[in-house]
Amino acid sequence: MPARSLLDLDDFTSDELTYLLNRADAFDRRPPSRNLLAGITVVNLFFEASTRTFVSFAIAESRVGADVVALPPGSSSLGKGETIADTAITLAAMGVRVIVTRHPESGFPYRLAETFEGHVINAGDGRHAHPTQALLDLLTLKAEFGRIEGLRVALVGDILHSRVARSNVIGLKLLGADVVLVGPPTLLPDAMACDGVTIERDLDAILPTLDALVLLRIQRERIAAAVLPSLEDYARNYRLDARRAGRLKRGAIVMHPGPYNRGIELTQDVFAFEGWRYAQQVSHGVPVRMAVLDFLVNGREK
Ligand code: ASP
Repeated sequence: MPARSLLDLDDFTSDELTYLLNRADAFDRRPPSRNLLAGITVVNLFFEASTRTFVSFAIAESRVGADVVALPPGSSSLGKGETIADTAITLAAMGVRVIVTRHPESGFPYRLAETFEGHVINAGDGRHAHPTQALLDLLTLKAEFGRIEGLRVALVGDILHSRVARSNVIGLKLLGADVVLVGPPTLLPDAMACDGVTIERDLDAILPTLDALVLLRIQRERIAAAVLPSLEDYARNYRLDARRAGRLKRGAIVMHPGPYNRGIELTQDVFAFEGWRYAQQVSHGVPVRMAVLDFLVNGREK
């Protein structure tokens, strides 16, 4: 059987997603008592800036006892003209079993997985997908509400260029949440509405109906200047501040994948809002990534 990879959350069934979240939750409460990935070599191949994801994968890999090699950005031979396929063959020949990769090009991990004989984990590809971020967001929702099904979750801001949004939509739909996308037409075209996903332009109007709000960073590095909306207009309509947060229903939470830009998608006073869950999200990144590594390499717990 070919090695399984995690390229986006649609690689999993809803049953597998539930298993992974439960497993991550168990790791969060009590770290595994044995080295689940003993003798397994993992390479972290990041071609784009990363703080949270890179460090969190490194911690997760060490907690499951893997042998880890990190290749600093710009140092792989891909820059010397080696093809992705040749890189895959080279790493496999050294016994590498797992590649965790981030790349500015959408689809890079898919091309790697076509040739690499081991497992590929997508740590973010262009504007396409970021499945482990979506998993940690799902775990944060589950920790808060005890379920995902039936929750009304809004993703707000630059949906068009957000790999976090795309992977979250897949995961939230698979687990039965009601998904709302909110933003201006330049960052959220009408065509992004689909089965189980509605589009709203008026954030203020829907705030009292939400269980959770996921704020997204404007992806300036991926946006043509012509499409970038006026930041003043954006802030007026979509920036979360304490006044807007106060209109959420009781018990609702606010999340952000980071890095956040104060003054654009949120104001500083949101950090004092009782439902602000950024730190919990970051903390959930480690057990979620431990669970993914264990599941791909060892399969389900017997
Ligand atoms: N850190 C997330 C990502 O890599 C979100 C962001 O950069 O806005 O996609």
